[in-house]
Amino acid sequence: MKLVLIGAPAAGKGTQARKLIEKYHLAYISTGDMLREEVAKGTELGLKVKSIMASGSLVSDDLIIAIVKERIKADDCKNGFILDGFPRTVVQAEKLDELIGSVDTTIYIKCPDDVLLKRITARQTCPKCGATYNKISVPSKVAGICDVCGTKLVQRKDDTIEAGKARLATFHQQSEPLVAYYKAQGKLFEVDGLMGLDNITKAIFARLGE
Ligand code: ADP
Repeated sequence: MKLVLIGAPAAGKGTQARKLIEKYHLAYISTGDMLREEVAKGTELGLKVKSIMASGSLVSDDLIIAIVKERIKADDCKNGFILDGFPRTVVQAEKLDELIGSVDTTIYIKCPDDVLLKRITARQTCPKCGATYNKISVPSKVAGICDVCGTKLVQRKDDTIEAGKARLATFHQQSEPLVAYYKAQGKLFEVDGLMGLDNITKAIFARLGE
């Protein structure tokens, strides 16, 4: 199964991706996580993308396509994968189709901007395992500590009001056209991002089958 998750920042893509990989044993490919790892390690690529990411803009299509092209060749992708944060532009989607034929389903988690902006600023992320929490709606069991691996949680550099607004604008301009792109292919499954984490998971499982 080859799945794509789309949705504005903080729509809940990462959270749902974790449920999906558990159930369907898919490789999880988050381009945001991959880039953040490069930034944390201070690699040449990391240095190149650091300020672009912090400002809420997108890194270049060529760069991200090259990364994904390599990643999907890995062994763990043989049974299928879930892409979170890629494609983010129609050019990236076209390239993905070229690389893999076509995706099976694209899940679009739809959420209004005002809710997303509140979630973005309340979000806490584990720098080690990538788990995300929300101080208001999905707090960790012990404040500031990751439930999964016990690491101290941080706020992402781009989880501020300013960068959050820029990321939402970027989403509407550059990524929202993907909804029409996948709808035209008959691959789109749209789910209401306001109906609660468990209900969203149930709706997705119902669509994908047991
Ligand atoms: P979000 O929480 O906004 O969904 P991600 O963690 O997926 O964010 O990505 C963080 C940042 O990494 C993006 O704002 C962008 O700068 C960069 N990025 C990630 N994936 C892509 C992509 N497919 N194309 C271009 N830039 C990307």
